[in-house]
Amino acid sequence: MTKKIRIHPTDAPSKLTHINQKQVTPDFRSFFDEFVQGIIVHRNFKPLYANNAFASLFGYKNSGEVLALPLLRELVPNDLWPSVEIEYDEMMRGLKEAYIGRSRCVHKNGQEFWCAITLRVIDWLDGPAMMLTAYDITQQVELEYGLLTNEQKLRSVLEILPYPIYISRRSDGQIMFVNRKSCLLFQKSAGQFLRSTADELFVDPQDRQNLLNLFQTISDVREIEVRMKTSQNRSFIAELASIAIDYNGDKAFLVALNDISQRKILEAELFRQASIDALTGINNRGHFQSLAEQEVRRARRFSRALTALMIDIDFFKPINDTFGHAAGDVVLQGIVKRATESLRQSDCIGRVGGEEFAVLLPETSISAAYDVADRLRKHIEEKPIVAGHQAISCTVSIGIAELIPEDSGIDDLLRRADKALYAAKQAGRNRVEPKRELSESKISVGKRASDS
Ligand code: GH3
Ligand code: MG
Ligand code: MG
Repeated sequence: MTKKIRIHPTDAPSKLTHINQKQVTPDFRSFFDEFVQGIIVHRNFKPLYANNAFASLFGYKNSGEVLALPLLRELVPNDLWPSVEIEYDEMMRGLKEAYIGRSRCVHKNGQEFWCAITLRVIDWLDGPAMMLTAYDITQQVELEYGLLTNEQKLRSVLEILPYPIYISRRSDGQIMFVNRKSCLLFQKSAGQFLRSTADELFVDPQDRQNLLNLFQTISDVREIEVRMKTSQNRSFIAELASIAIDYNGDKAFLVALNDISQRKILEAELFRQASIDALTGINNRGHFQSLAEQEVRRARRFSRALTALMIDIDFFKPINDTFGHAAGDVVLQGIVKRATESLRQSDCIGRVGGEEFAVLLPETSISAAYDVADRLRKHIEEKPIVAGHQAISCTVSIGIAELIPEDSGIDDLLRRADKALYAAKQAGRNRVEPKRELSESKISVGKRASDS
């Protein structure tokens, strides 16, 4: 059995304790009359007492008007009435001690409004009765409902957007919302999503951590490229945009994604087409130029040597004339093959003219470069190129030059290599210029460890 609160002389303020019961009632009433909260006492919904605050809360002139109501039924919305009766019954039978909550109520003008409610069974003068306190929380509830409908609206908008979108809780990454496009992209059901965290979507969870770090200072991020993965572990590149939001009372991130894997492949292919020579598969002139500029900067920054080779096929025109242009193409490919065979991974080669190639040898002094160039020259001379039924012998002339502090950039270096190439042609072709003895006397801006 639950304990009832006794509104009785012994519980009343001390000034009332020595007054007999007959006098108690009016004094107790005047005590509650002052309350700003609405208070009503009823038995079987027949009002026994109401204060003025209660009367005005429900739109009645005074407590008398409330007490004149035969039953309090009209203060309760019709749909709530059955549950209100059950609640009353259970509390009166001592099955429930008290009720603290919120409820819709009906104003005298017929309008519904929201009240915070407490219910307790008390000892009234002639037996148990129900005491109810109430105060208006309509504004607060409407605000909450407004937010709720906003979230519903947000969800329905996100659901139809043609992008994968999810919402994850900021504190632990828990997925709180996911749209259909995300389910398709990640090959996961909404249920699986809602049981997982955002960390599981990233190939490298550190990427999500980095995003969180960004959100320390800004409230939204855009055009972030991250690697994500599906439930089948297929990884893809996603462009990600995210904004910090409040969702269901939690700090959260709304994340919109775009699978850009296809675009990346296309971009790489376009870049390849724009930077690679179609016939030989090595860097074209433009791309070689930009790579060469990087190499010059790197050599300068680390005070390392950098040497350029300028290679030109000897008497290539007669080869074309004798064997045909198609055979000439095969010769160009063969020369490139032989060149790449004798170069290191870090060396950079480009086709800079019809039958002219340039090579950059990083961390290589001119004396070491001479050996590389001469080995290549011999390799070409000794290994004829097979074009159809023909084995075509050919030779190359190579000019070399090393980056010197006076060079303003790659053009100066290549110009000097070109000059050396011209000297090689002049000296009879199939040779490397300047000769080793000469090249050793050149000043170098750095020395390669392996040269010593
Ligand atoms: P040298 O020893 O002085 O360098 O003589 P060369 O005949 O090699 O020099 P020249 O500059 O007179 O001739 C270069 C030739 O390369 C002319 C041109 O038709 C040919 N050529 C340029 N590009 C290509 C190409 O893509 N394919 C083929 N087959 N030939 C090309
Ligand atoms: Mg030429
Ligand atoms: Mg030539």
